[in-house]
Amino acid sequence: MSELSIPINLSEELKMLQDLVREVVRNEVIPVRKELDEKHEYPWKVFEKFREAGLFQAMFDEEYGGMGLGMMGNIILAEEIAYGCLGVGTAFLATKLGSLPIEVGGTDEQKKKWLPRLASGEIIAAFGLTEPNAGSDVPSLQTTAVKKGDKYILNGTKQWISGAGQAHVYTVFAITDKSRGPRGISCFIVEKGTPGFSFGKKEDKLGIRCSETRQLIFEDCEVPAENLVGGRENNGFIHALKTLNLSRPAVAASAVGTAQGAYDAAMQYAREREQFGVKIVSFQAIQHMLAIMATKIEAARLLTYKAAVMAENGHKDTAKFSAMAKYFASETAMEVATNAVQIFGGYGYVREYPVEKYFRDAKILQIYEGTSQIQLNEIAAGLIKESTTKKVIY
Ligand SMILES: Cc1cc2nc3c(=O)[nH]c(=O)nc-3n(C[C@H](O)[C@H](O)[C@H](O)COP(=O)(O)OP(=O)(O)OC[C@H]3O[C@@H](n4cnc5c(N)ncnc54)[C@H](O)[C@@H]3O)c2cc1C
Repeated sequence: MSELSIPINLSEELKMLQDLVREVVRNEVIPVRKELDEKHEYPWKVFEKFREAGLFQAMFDEEYGGMGLGMMGNIILAEEIAYGCLGVGTAFLATKLGSLPIEVGGTDEQKKKWLPRLASGEIIAAFGLTEPNAGSDVPSLQTTAVKKGDKYILNGTKQWISGAGQAHVYTVFAITDKSRGPRGISCFIVEKGTPGFSFGKKEDKLGIRCSETRQLIFEDCEVPAENLVGGRENNGFIHALKTLNLSRPAVAASAVGTAQGAYDAAMQYAREREQFGVKIVSFQAIQHMLAIMATKIEAARLLTYKAAVMAENGHKDTAKFSAMAKYFASETAMEVATNAVQIFGGYGYVREYPVEKYFRDAKILQIYEGTSQIQLNEIAAGLIKESTTKKVIY
């Protein structure tokens, strides 16, 4: 496969993964998603099934005990799990998000120590970047890490962390040199149970309710110096940017899965529901809604695959394409879920049917891992940069 060929037809290996995840999602996620959502219950039991099926391994390199399926493996996982439940998908992918700073920036020792345990599903991870006063404006974060002997002392609070409280290990971003702005941020691996490390209350969210979200609170928390990712201070911002470039295509894939789930439910319902003596699918208004939904889902899927292939190959335009995929797929998921509720009419507005949950869940896709507005900023920055070297005759 050349660097930029987009896998419209998945390889045999990826098709096998897709079949496997579809079966696990059908048997283990779809039957329990409503209950998990209602009870606000973290999906440990589902993770046990994922572990048995080897799905944690599918996210990691062979060198560390994974299956070595690369970015496309993550894309398939994200799409298929979100098709069943974005809450389960978010909780599951939080481990990859929390592992990525180690994968992109860790020392060999750190990779050998942590990645095999994460790949086996023995432990799960979370990613601690956002703070109460530093959301889109990441460089303004205030958590500090001060070196004292062979330890760093962390103080500060992280906000909205997926998997917080449940995860065993956290990649946490903190300032080590305030005078250097974003170039003075470092990343640390912090284990649950470290003295001075606690969690805030469980957030009561609109959607993805089975994915636990809490604050991380650091009060004179002593972290061993060997847990500084990469072993060198002030590289944390680069680790964060590389992480987001690699994780945004997976969020886009989650959006494609969410949209596909909502669309499939809407199509099925439109073929069953009768009004004015005919199935509602025979009304052109409904057909056009379904046609636009399906077209946008296909477009989002192709853009997601393209961004994934570019990210995997370290293409120079990765940031722009990852942002394009995340933006377009998230907007598509929200639009498709909204129209799915419309096609269900009053039945779409109640909890008996699945589209109400797709609608609540989809909203987070436009917010986490960079809001839609931030993706547009990133895309525009890329476009303006490339326009300076492109001479156009008009
Ligand atoms: C359920 C959930 C799970 C999350 N999981 C994680 C996690 O695991 N780890 C983690 O680190 N973070 C996580 N986040 C945080 C998430 O990434 C942030 O919420 C997001 O980046 C937005 O930050 P904010 O909420 O502070 O909004 P703000 O940055 O305050 O933005 C508010 C509004 O202003 C707009 N805005 C801000 N700046 C600009 C600008 N320059 N141009 C145009 N518009 C702008 C935004 O688009 C938004 O509409 C999670 C959030 C939620 C809600």
